[in-house]
Amino acid sequence: MFQLCRDTPIHANPRRRFHFDLARRSAHDISVWQKICFRRFLLILVGLAAASILPASAQQEATKLKVVATFSILGDFARNVGGDRVDVTTLVRPNGDVHVYTPTTADAEAIRNAGLVIVNGLGLEGWLPRLVESSGGHATTVVATHGIVPRKVAAGEILSRDRGAGSLDPHAWQSVANAEIYVVNIRDTMVAADRANAATYKANTSAYLAKLGALDHDVREALAPIPVERRKVISTHAAFGYFAAAYDITFVAPQGVSTETEPSARDIATIITQIKKEKIPAVFLENISDPRLIRQIASETGATIGGTLYSDSLTAKDGEAPSYIEMVRHNIRTIASALME
Ligand SMILES: [Zn+2]
Repeated sequence: MFQLCRDTPIHANPRRRFHFDLARRSAHDISVWQKICFRRFLLILVGLAAASILPASAQQEATKLKVVATFSILGDFARNVGGDRVDVTTLVRPNGDVHVYTPTTADAEAIRNAGLVIVNGLGLEGWLPRLVESSGGHATTVVATHGIVPRKVAAGEILSRDRGAGSLDPHAWQSVANAEIYVVNIRDTMVAADRANAATYKANTSAYLAKLGALDHDVREALAPIPVERRKVISTHAAFGYFAAAYDITFVAPQGVSTETEPSARDIATIITQIKKEKIPAVFLENISDPRLIRQIASETGATIGGTLYSDSLTAKDGEAPSYIEMVRHNIRTIASALME
């Protein structure tokens, strides 16, 4: 142990000087010196321990499973399942449009370096196959909707520019029961891709599934006081088909209104007639930014207007829907309060 203190005395031959010093020192001096040496020994032990921890954590950072999710909702699922064992990159950022996305060179790089790519499937990411091919990567791809019963787009639904009635509706995550299937699919693929962390992925998934179960329960409870025949809303979103089916809400597309342009006076008159005729208590028309038009619809129909519903993208952290669970909670609060009399 005293060897650790060899460098203390300044002498040409430290070992000899060490014995010489010991012989000359009083018992008190020796005990003080022993204490100093022991402290040094402890310091070195602590240093060695720290040195063995630091490279390990840095190494863990480098060996985290690299996951690419195509859009923010899948990214949120992946983070909940993977926790601190995964490094998740989301291609379509919050508030972006996953239907009409143009990938960047950074996206190709992310796919090339990924260990796992999570996609929605059901035709949502039409831009993805070309990206994967051009990236030259060999990551495992998980189709998160695997095992979900897809619904078909009904006539009159505005899904996106190129998808008509009869095509598959990709917005399956809007039913919480489906979200549970997404999460289980993601868990199974992470477990297969990274067996060393299997127990963590399973534990994280169990905890998250419990939260989703509570969420589904809360959605039903929020709607319970509203009679099914009153659960009727007009929305420019055609993304709520699965949500509507799961929770007995009818989403009606506004007649004669494009989702891309501000409606004309004639469009507004058509919507007013539709609201009155179909007795619709709540209207979500996010493409109408003119408050006078919104007031006009409200005063002529008595319908509740307003509120933002989130469907395909989460918001930034400080927004209303920074996570999937918060998105569903926000939507159901907005819809339920608009439908209450
Ligand atoms: Zn959509």
